[in-house]
Amino acid sequence: MSSFLMYLQSSIFLIALLWNPVKGSRGDTCKQFLICMRQCSKGCSLDEYPGKLPIYLTVFWWDCTDECKYQCMHNVTASDLRNNKRIKQFYGKWPFIRFLGIQEPASVLFSIFNGIGHILGWRMFRSIVPNTDYNMYSVWKVNLVVCINGWFWSTVFHTRDLNWTEKMDYFCATSMVMYSLFACLMRFIGLENKRSCFIVGLSFCCLFCYHVFYLAFVRFDYGYNMKFNVTIGITNLCSWLSWCLTHYQQQPYVWKCAVVTVGVFLLLGLELGDFPPILWTFDAHSLWHLGTAPLCYFWYSFLVDDAKYQLSMKRKTKKSP
Ligand SMILES: [Zn+2]
Repeated sequence: MSSFLMYLQSSIFLIALLWNPVKGSRGDTCKQFLICMRQCSKGCSLDEYPGKLPIYLTVFWWDCTDECKYQCMHNVTASDLRNNKRIKQFYGKWPFIRFLGIQEPASVLFSIFNGIGHILGWRMFRSIVPNTDYNMYSVWKVNLVVCINGWFWSTVFHTRDLNWTEKMDYFCATSMVMYSLFACLMRFIGLENKRSCFIVGLSFCCLFCYHVFYLAFVRFDYGYNMKFNVTIGITNLCSWLSWCLTHYQQQPYVWKCAVVTVGVFLLLGLELGDFPPILWTFDAHSLWHLGTAPLCYFWYSFLVDDAKYQLSMKRKTKKSP
């Protein structure tokens, strides 16, 4: 077990050091793309095609310039393929084939899978655990709201990558990870310890508000955002893992929590190994979203078992004089 922990620890630090999304060469600054954009944009001012766009594009805020970017991106990519050149990234993204105006259909679908995973998981939890007796019930209920909100904005962002949708996706993803860490600390401290819980909760609220305020109104710094999320994410994974290690002897169901924690950790590897999308649809990021969806089952199954355990302990302490 100790060698496994050492391996995990070193891997986490390696990920933290290497965490720098692999940037492909900048297709949007290459000569061929710029020439194509100049020619295409002329049509925008003349109100010719692609000035007049079909409704399924305009509902997702595609305008003439966006359409030119999309067409030119695929022109350059097709030319690169013909000439056996490396596939380029454009504006920090791989060239995806859109579907009915949806920019990254696979990530959209898999974000929806995650949202559904939480809804189904919560339905199972609610049908088994009585809300009156279980004090962590409200913590997990808020967790559901935070996660549904997070996956909703992930769906919106992957549908259409715009300045504000990107920010909402980033902020809500951070809120999910921060809330998971907060819930873990609540499980460690115990909700009976109201004063400590209040202090932790207030500190997390202040930290989250500061983070959002800085990125939204001071400076949108990708480097700082990435470091902040990696720090919170790794602290979250380590906290849950240490909770699992300190409780697995008395509570055998803890393996389900460990599966989720280790699963998320392994899936993070996909974020590192960036590659051009398979069939121009499935990139590493979409597969990361696909991978986290089935983990919802294990997570809610763990929450049910944990609630049962805590309730049985409560009954035991009530009975004993
Ligand atoms: Zn995403």
